[in-house]
Amino acid sequence: MKLGTARIVVWSMMAAVVLFGLIALVTQSPIAYILMGIALVAELIVFFVFIKCPHCGHHLDRAGMNSEIEYCPFCGRSLKDQDE
Ligand SMILES: [Zn+2]
Repeated sequence: MKLGTARIVVWSMMAAVVLFGLIALVTQSPIAYILMGIALVAELIVFFVFIKCPHCGHHLDRAGMNSEIEYCPFCGRSLKDQDE
């Protein structure tokens, strides 16, 4: 998975966690709690596995979620050209 795709997936999963969380609070539905849990786990997996530098493979942490970041803070190589 490319970094740009991984970012989109992580943001989408975050939105899903919030959405299912709100539904769970309002409806007290166990299914909504389960879906929230699944979305949270999926978000964390994609975040830790795919938010990484395509050159050195270093996990980019929260900085990697910022689409404005141009260079890997660890090896200094461009993250942009691998994105497209
Ligand atoms: Zn790197």
